[in-house]
Amino acid sequence: MLNEIFKKSLNNIEITADEFNVLVNADLDELISCAERIKLKYMGSAPQTCAIINARSGLCSENCAFCAQSSHFSTGAPVYKYIELERIEAAAKDLAARGVERFSIVTSGLVPDDEEFQKIKESLKIIKKYRLKPDASVGCLSYEKLMELKEVGLDAYHHNLEVARSFFPEICTTHDYETDVETVRESVRAGLYVCSGGIFGLGETWAHRYELAMTLRELGVHSVPMNFLNPIKGTPKEGTSVLGEDEALRILAVYRFLLPDRSIRVCGGRSIVFSERSAEKVLRAGASGIMVGDYLTVKGISMDEDMDFIRKSSE
Ligand code: SF4
Repeated sequence: MLNEIFKKSLNNIEITADEFNVLVNADLDELISCAERIKLKYMGSAPQTCAIINARSGLCSENCAFCAQSSHFSTGAPVYKYIELERIEAAAKDLAARGVERFSIVTSGLVPDDEEFQKIKESLKIIKKYRLKPDASVGCLSYEKLMELKEVGLDAYHHNLEVARSFFPEICTTHDYETDVETVRESVRAGLYVCSGGIFGLGETWAHRYELAMTLRELGVHSVPMNFLNPIKGTPKEGTSVLGEDEALRILAVYRFLLPDRSIRVCGGRSIVFSERSAEKVLRAGASGIMVGDYLTVKGISMDEDMDFIRKSSE
C-alpha cells in the first residue's frame, strides 16, 4: 500500500484521507526513504536557506496561544518598535557573506501602521542591495499593499495559517481564520512567491494536520514553513510536551507526500525537537530547506554549523 501511495505522490496526485492514515501508521524508515526520493524528484538535493530578523517585537493585539509576542500574555519576550535600518543593513551584509539565499523582515501584529510600512519598504530595498531575496512577514496586508512591496523588490510574502481551520478557534480567538487565508490568497494573486505553513505540537490531531496540508495545497502556496512548538513560559501552551523526534520526522515525511512539489522548510523548534544533526535529519525526511540563525524570540542553532553542513551537502 505504501508503494502505491508513493507512486501517486511522485506523480503529484492528491493523497486521500484514507491514504494519509496509511502513511501515519507506516514504518518510519520506509516512509522517510520514500519522502526523500519525492523531495529529490521535485526539489533536488541542494538545501534552500532563509533567515529572518524580528524587526518589531511584542505588542501584538492577537492572542495566538503559542506566541511569546502576544500582549495578552506575560512572557518576558523583548518588546520594541521597528528597529533602526542600520541593523537590517548589518544583518543583510552578514547573511550575504555567508551565502544565505533569502532574508525576511518579520514584524509582530496584525497590520503595520503607515510609518512602519514605509520602513518595511526601505528595509526591502536594503536587502535587495545585498543580492539576497527580500522577503516579508508583516501581517494581513491587502492586495494593494502587497503590490506596493512588490514594486520595491519583495520576492516572497510569508503568512502562516498556523493550524487547520477546524482547530484554529482553540489557538486564536482575536481574528478569523479567513483573515489569514485571505492574506495568503491575495499574496498568490499578487504573483509573489508565497510561503505559508504552520506550527505543530499544539495538541492538534493527525486529521488536523491533513486538513492544514490540503488547505495549503489548494491555495497554491509555493513554500511551507514548518515550526514545532517550543512551549514558551507565560503562554497558554507553557505546559505542553515537546513533540518527540520521531513524530516530528513523520510529520515532515507525510507533508512531503501531501505537498510533493512545494518547498518545505523547517523553521522554529528545530533545536528543541531534534537532539543532534537536525539539519541533516530534517532534509533526509523530506524537507527541502531550513531557516538558519535565530528565531523570533528564541536563539537558533549556530549559523556556522548550519551553513557548513549546507555547503557540504551542496558540493
Ligand atoms: S503569532 Fe503573530 S498575530 Fe499571533 S500573537 Fe504572535 S505576533 Fe501576534
